[in-house]
Amino acid sequence: MKMDPRDRGLPPARKRLGQHFLTDTRTLDRIADVLEIRKTDTVIEIGPGRGALTDRLAARAGRLITIEIDKLLIPVLRARYATQPHVSVIESDVLDLALGDVAGGPYLLAGNVPYYITTPIIFHAMTRPRPERAVFLVQREVAERAVAPPGSREYGALSVNLQALATVTPKGIVKPTAFHPPPSVDSSILHLVPRADPVISMDEEAAFRKLVIASFGLRRKQLRRVVRTVRGLSAEQADAALEMAGIDPEARPETLSAAQFAALLRSLPAIVADET
Ligand code: SAM
Repeated sequence: MKMDPRDRGLPPARKRLGQHFLTDTRTLDRIADVLEIRKTDTVIEIGPGRGALTDRLAARAGRLITIEIDKLLIPVLRARYATQPHVSVIESDVLDLALGDVAGGPYLLAGNVPYYITTPIIFHAMTRPRPERAVFLVQREVAERAVAPPGSREYGALSVNLQALATVTPKGIVKPTAFHPPPSVDSSILHLVPRADPVISMDEEAAFRKLVIASFGLRRKQLRRVVRTVRGLSAEQADAALEMAGIDPEARPETLSAAQFAALLRSLPAIVADET
């Protein structure tokens, strides 16, 4: 087979690592624009790949830290940025690094993220200390779920858990032809700003996620049944908790906002404690 000139002198794209390299200049510029980088900013890029987005970020940021898992791409990237001392290349799985510690201060986050771990990466990025803002290129379907409002078909655990922590805005669809090799689905640019007033506190995050995931496992059931099932409560205890949270016991999980899930979480231990 004839080699694509874009691959010349480079390690082959590894599907296993979600390597679909962006080649469309308008999309690359758009992602960098959406992040609104100032010359004093520290930017972390997840998965720089062959450096197409990295070039744009490096031109705008005061400091750019890139994190790439593919050891074959590390020498390529180090050579490409050898003359730009404000750019560093870390070889690592991004999920193994505390991004706030890597930045050592306020930072922005960018990534055309590998689709096989999009959701873990987004939630990893939302652990404290959080970026000031982030831009990700993700599958269109993930973006639709991330921004879905209560009651819509796409609304689910991802929507609630993310909207509890961040304001999420879609910034445009990207077609497969913008990549080499092309993925099989459309992508979407997603802008995230961690909320200054998160719906849940740091201590509540794990229990909140558990409650939300368990509730959406029963998304068609009424909340009275959901609360009874996920917390092993009696019908009376479930009703009391829902009343305390100001939630109709006959409503369904798919209609509750992140704030309502938080209110429900807070009413549950109180009810159990009152009974014991
Ligand atoms: N940013 C480049 C671009 O836009 O052309 C590459 C994007 S490609 C979709 C995803 C990149 O993330 C690849 O370079 C891949 O090797 C890297 N990657 C995959 N899994 C990773 C992980 N767990 N940690 C860090 N980088 C990862």
